[in-house]
Amino acid sequence: MFDVSEARLWGLILGGPLKSMALCPLSISGQLNAFALCYKSRMRTILSCLFLLLFCSPSILAEVDPLWTTPVAPFRITDNLYYVGSEDLASYLVVTSKGNILINANLASSPPQIRASVEKLGFKWSDTKILLNSHAHSDHMGGAAEVVLETHAKNMVMDGDVSVVETGARTDFLSPSRNILTYAPVHVDRVLHDGDTVSLGDVTLTSHKTAGHTRGCTTWTMRSHFPGEPVGTTRNIVIVGGVGFWSEYHFVAAPGQPVSYPGIAQDFQHTFSELRALPCEVFLGAHGAYFDMLTKLKRYPQAGPRVFIDPAGYKEFVADAQETFKKVLSEQEAAAAH
Ligand SMILES: [Zn+2]
Repeated sequence: MFDVSEARLWGLILGGPLKSMALCPLSISGQLNAFALCYKSRMRTILSCLFLLLFCSPSILAEVDPLWTTPVAPFRITDNLYYVGSEDLASYLVVTSKGNILINANLASSPPQIRASVEKLGFKWSDTKILLNSHAHSDHMGGAAEVVLETHAKNMVMDGDVSVVETGARTDFLSPSRNILTYAPVHVDRVLHDGDTVSLGDVTLTSHKTAGHTRGCTTWTMRSHFPGEPVGTTRNIVIVGGVGFWSEYHFVAAPGQPVSYPGIAQDFQHTFSELRALPCEVFLGAHGAYFDMLTKLKRYPQAGPRVFIDPAGYKEFVADAQETFKKVLSEQEAAAAH
């Protein structure tokens, strides 16, 4: 069984900060993206090692990655979209003429950090009218109860994740699992369905059910004007909800081992076709590592928010994740056939 010390050994073997990468329940592509920050040239030679890591990592997922709790100075992405999360746990503030929308409450310990970021940007915490999320895991919804308590925001959740949110992850299809941490249950005020829009003031976001990672995993899209670009022009923004999985995910029934939930493989397939079809210019996601946020931020002081315009990076992320899923699906099919 793989454990933290073994992960550190892998870190030594691979010559880098593996721990922070491995603790994060990213897709392999997300992990590769994170890894590519420093090690791009060696990526191909270590693919097989990382692939193994993906399947061995769940026992270490329960540790909190320091990148999840390390604050990052909040910053503007578009005219009305701001980043208020940590170095890796993404939280977004959408500012409208009728109050603000927060996407992701992150860990149970995160709301004070998110609030400080919102206020540092000059906005009022009490103006948070709606809480949305990427999916119902504790690293995105652990702080939801506190956010709702403090701001009275309406909590809107995709069908499929509603009972998970309302039981604090106790009905997650993987639960009980050391990788599925429970959190304070929070009431859902509005149940969303695939394609539903959420409007407040002059802003509309569209929900896309990209299930598999959780049953109600949600990718958010919106159009927004980029600072410095011609008046009246807008960009397509995609906030990916999550495409990862680990060895507890079973896509194919085998003797004594049912699928994680009926239709999970079809959900992942649908998620990839949905993500491939989405027009994306501004690539964002539930974890900063999905879109190489920390690397892009290094160029932000000179280049500004344009660093997040990355349609090619988005396509590569989705293609890598789909490739990984296909490979694991065929491996599980082959194993089940024996
Ligand atoms: Zn998750």
